Amino acid sequence: MTYTAVELIESKRDGKQLPADGIEWLIGSYTDGSVPDYQMSAMAMAIVFNGLDAEELAAWTSAMIASGDTFDFSEIPLAKIDKHSTGGVGDKVSIPLAPLVAACGVVVPMMSGRALGHTGGTLDKLESIPGFVPRIDQTRFREILSEHHLVLAGQSDTIVPADQMLYALRDATGTVSSIPLISSSIMSKKLSEGLDGLVLDVKTGSGAFMDTIDEARELARTMVGIGINNDVETVALITSMEQPLGNEVGNANEIKESVDVLNGTGPSDVTELTLALGEVMLELARIDGGRERLQEAIDSGAALQKLKDVATAHGGDASVLDDTSRLERATHEEVIESPNDGYVTRCDALTIGLVATRLGAGRERKEAEVDHGVAITLKAKVGSRVPTGGPLAVVHYNDEAKWLGQKDKLASAWAIGPEEPAEIDLVIERVDRSQI
Ligand code: URA
Repeated sequence: MTYTAVELIESKRDGKQLPADGIEWLIGSYTDGSVPDYQMSAMAMAIVFNGLDAEELAAWTSAMIASGDTFDFSEIPLAKIDKHSTGGVGDKVSIPLAPLVAACGVVVPMMSGRALGHTGGTLDKLESIPGFVPRIDQTRFREILSEHHLVLAGQSDTIVPADQMLYALRDATGTVSSIPLISSSIMSKKLSEGLDGLVLDVKTGSGAFMDTIDEARELARTMVGIGINNDVETVALITSMEQPLGNEVGNANEIKESVDVLNGTGPSDVTELTLALGEVMLELARIDGGRERLQEAIDSGAALQKLKDVATAHGGDASVLDDTSRLERATHEEVIESPNDGYVTRCDALTIGLVATRLGAGRERKEAEVDHGVAITLKAKVGSRVPTGGPLAVVHYNDEAKWLGQKDKLASAWAIGPEEPAEIDLVIERVDRSQI
């Protein structure tokens, strides 16, 4: 059967099912340049409005995977399990989690992304370790994985090139927010990594892609379904992103907080989420011991040693992980004070993420450089009791003009009231094969 882009776009526009070989042709032709961006963006918009059914989604994801290389690490005779977060503010969990589970016997070929929008990126955080190079070739990837059972790399250009093109196009054409497009984009990359299992941290709340629990649940179920249909056992935890995770938002400070988690002195929410996701990774790898085993790897220092070994393998100066005061820090700081006495009832993740981004901790354009020393250190989160004038946050910044433009906005992230608020549930629900 031969196709033209126009007839496929018209079919989707009119709510008809796209044939699997038509999808394969379209994605192949887009990747080789014979279907232009304007036709693919019309198709993306038709999908935003009319969706993809289960058969179309399976064909779309397979065609995306087939656009590039796939990894096979079967020479390493242990379970290969990765984790993916849909992105949040202060979400440094991958950095303590990956070495923690690797220290317990899981093989983790982790490929992470950079900051975009108001959310941070694991690669930018890792690059706060002086010398750390996340971009490595396939040979070096395999060497590090075989030796340490953990790689903390950037997404390779040869994995799902169709997504690299399509994601940039969606970003520029208002077509990011579509559950089939998001789930096929994320899962095609993860399914190319040669995994046995995958845990997904699907965020919901102010600082997440999906503000409502219903949307988060639909995204989680869709991604778990794609994983299982591709023989990769996939479990999602839906977790709260109403307020930032941990007390640090900003690259170098998030490395410090990750080290704290591995030393057993991290904030309770980051530690709890790290352990909750770690338990699922051990379960997927069929390694016994659950939380106790994870706790032993923290207490013995094995997990922190794993992070140091892998940082060194990536060219980084791991001695900063022993003395985190040597990590980069911005030159100026200012305290945000509480305007009144009471309980913190809101500490808005989106506002704090946007301000951190504007101060340089994230990037507003893909090609922008991040400032590793910029950070917002939270001193009061939901449920904290604060006096008038008490500290809500300490802001570390380099650019005075930028900070003056953001000061009022940052202060608006907190609401203080007389009543102690209910605790925020961090892990809201689990989605696995029993729910799809
Ligand atoms: N992250 C991705 O990798 N793809 C999307 O579409 C959205 C978030």
